[in-house]
Amino acid sequence: SLTIGIVGLPNVGKSTLFNALTKNDVLAANYPFATIEPNVGVVGVPDGRLAQLASIFSSERILPATVDFVDIAGIVRGASEGEGLGNKFLANIRESDAICQVIRAFKDENVVHVDGKVSPKDDIETINTELILADLQTIEKVLPRLQKESRIKKDVAPKVKAVEEAKEILERGDTLSSQGILQGSERAELLHDLHLLTTKPFLYVFNVDEDELTDEDFKNTQRALVAPAEAIFLNAKLEADLAELDEEDAMELLESVGAEEPGLATLARVGFNTLGLQTYLTAGPKESRAWTIPKGATAPEAAGVIHTDFQKGFIKAEVISFEDLVETGSVAEARAKGKARMEGKDYVMRDGDVVEFRFNV
Ligand code: GDP
Repeated sequence: SLTIGIVGLPNVGKSTLFNALTKNDVLAANYPFATIEPNVGVVGVPDGRLAQLASIFSSERILPATVDFVDIAGIVRGASEGEGLGNKFLANIRESDAICQVIRAFKDENVVHVDGKVSPKDDIETINTELILADLQTIEKVLPRLQKESRIKKDVAPKVKAVEEAKEILERGDTLSSQGILQGSERAELLHDLHLLTTKPFLYVFNVDEDELTDEDFKNTQRALVAPAEAIFLNAKLEADLAELDEEDAMELLESVGAEEPGLATLARVGFNTLGLQTYLTAGPKESRAWTIPKGATAPEAAGVIHTDFQKGFIKAEVISFEDLVETGSVAEARAKGKARMEGKDYVMRDGDVVEFRFNV
């Protein structure tokens, strides 16, 4: 499955946040025998629709979609040159599908900042510079060979052009994902086998003091630093506390700081989106469940997520939109009112589809 790598300078609250993430581990709760890597936290994507489905179908349990967060230690200034845990760090980050930067905004004098002052803008620049330098190194290694090759093989020319363009962007100090050059997916494909770090989507977690959680001016200033990437505001210590509490006490604590949901819930939802994922729903007496598919997946591809045999033997999918199902109150009623659609193999799944697949075995 797709993963989000958590990176950030030392002492910004990564471990605190990651501890909260692993305490929230939905795998541990739902699959007690699953093997979980020590540096992976699997978080449920909150989805209020599942509880509604569970009540319509009297489901025994609810299984939300999940996002995997990987704790990647070791970014410091000079990481791209192998400082600290540099090389291991770069290898780990290469394996992630998106990058979540934890940025310190909390002010606590007792917690030393590596650069001596709390400055989200400088910290973001430090991290992005390391990632950009690592990509430039990769490019400088392959570009001469590609240029030579393209003198003999004409079909290499588009790749050379894509790599040269990427180099220019990086030399200007911009990340590749921020420049929209990957929008045309042909370019993305040409660059794919270079595994460049800054082509990955980024999201930013600002670890803020509690009183800043509701400070819209402050948050807008930080948002502007990272736009169009997503910014999430949370207090890592508060998240760690929330993860220890039962639901009622957690709600009370959240209310006391003026927050509507735990920061981890927001993080899971935004992270899921950043990875380009969406869900469809299945429901029955055993469970109500959200299944993860890439945006744009077809019905047979969606069926394949449940079981490869479902995809191979796919006949059709009976689809009811979540809204129609809630309005009619049952599958039988939805069918009677003509709200159940039979979709074939070319159907592109929509968010909120409640599905039952028909297949040959
Ligand atoms: P890491 O090096 O990025 O993994 O940072 P840690 O999670 O180890 O946190 C570094 C120090 O900052 C620890 O003493 C934490 O207790 C403290 N810390 C983490 N998050 C917060 C926060 O939101 N507010 C305050 N005041 N301290 C925090």
